[in-house]
Amino acid sequence: PFDVLVVGGGPAGAASAIYAARKGIRTGIAAERFGGQVLDTMAIENFISVPHTEGPKLAAQLEQHVKDYDVDVMNLQRAETLIPARTEGGLHEVKLASGASLKARTVILSTGARWRQMNVPGEDEYRNKGVTYCPHCDGPLFKGKRVAVIGGGNSGVEAAIDLAGIVAHVTLIEYDSQLRADAVLQRKLASLPNVKVITSALTTEVRGDGEKLTSLTYKDRNHDTVHEIALEGIFVQIGLVPNTEWLKDAIALSNRGEIEVDHRGETSQRGIFAAGDCTTVPYKQIVIAMGEGSKAALSAFDYLIRLPAE
Ligand code: FAD
Repeated sequence: PFDVLVVGGGPAGAASAIYAARKGIRTGIAAERFGGQVLDTMAIENFISVPHTEGPKLAAQLEQHVKDYDVDVMNLQRAETLIPARTEGGLHEVKLASGASLKARTVILSTGARWRQMNVPGEDEYRNKGVTYCPHCDGPLFKGKRVAVIGGGNSGVEAAIDLAGIVAHVTLIEYDSQLRADAVLQRKLASLPNVKVITSALTTEVRGDGEKLTSLTYKDRNHDTVHEIALEGIFVQIGLVPNTEWLKDAIALSNRGEIEVDHRGETSQRGIFAAGDCTTVPYKQIVIAMGEGSKAALSAFDYLIRLPAE
């Protein structure tokens, strides 16, 4: 069995595996797609001390750094079931879609998350060519330009406030007849001169010139009319879905499906830790996922050295 089994090969999982391996303990990492969301990212400009890199390059470096250590890397492996140890200090079991079963004294869950998409024509075609999901990451790329934010919940309204300070103009589009964000955020939003809010609007299409995004169309749900807005960027803020469906019977999840962790990264089950975008820790970013992954590995090591000798 492994001392530490990491499930997920994004920034959080890679950091966990490296920190665990550096303690000289038996470490494995199983990932459906090594690199995680970073693989779908183009420019990365907030990975501190690296002014500019690109997603696929960083993903390759993550994998290489892990492989510099004695880590059993199992790529293209999807975990389907987690069976926590029945007794304190016992072995946890992770079953893979391939039929294999892995056993480990500690498990670090780092399966990340995925952005909810609008599922309209043009969204995929113009992804990273104007359509984006992360204001903290891509906001500065739209300096002085016109953008829309899709979604009037807290994350959409926060994104609109954030972007209003950077871009020329923000149109916030909400499907419902009113915004759902906290009142204090709505007041702040209403005070900004370069933001327009459109409610009861269903985004129907993303259009472009083949190279980059040029407009979006929406249907006014009250009047059943279709409108087009010319712009350079669209920030989709309709939810981040954690990849934790397979864990709901094994450990405590929040009402959004995020794995509940304490300040050491431990879940509701002793010896099972979690890190990165799949957890309740706020702000889904690469540097944060790496920090949390490192912390979870150190916590797992602490747990292991306190187990009674067999
Ligand atoms: P992920 O990167 O999501 O990795 C999850 C891993 O778990 C993957 O290997 C996945 O295959 C695997 N996995 C999932 N389910 C299973 C399963 N059941 N069994 C086995 N493996 C599984 N952040 C920044 O800091 N700067 C940026 O510029 C930036 N730009 C972004 C641009 C885009 C388009 C996107 C989508 C995100 C961006 N982010 C950026 C956010 C950043 O990518 C994430 O915060 C970060 O990747 C989270 O790392 P993670 O390891 O927690 O999860």
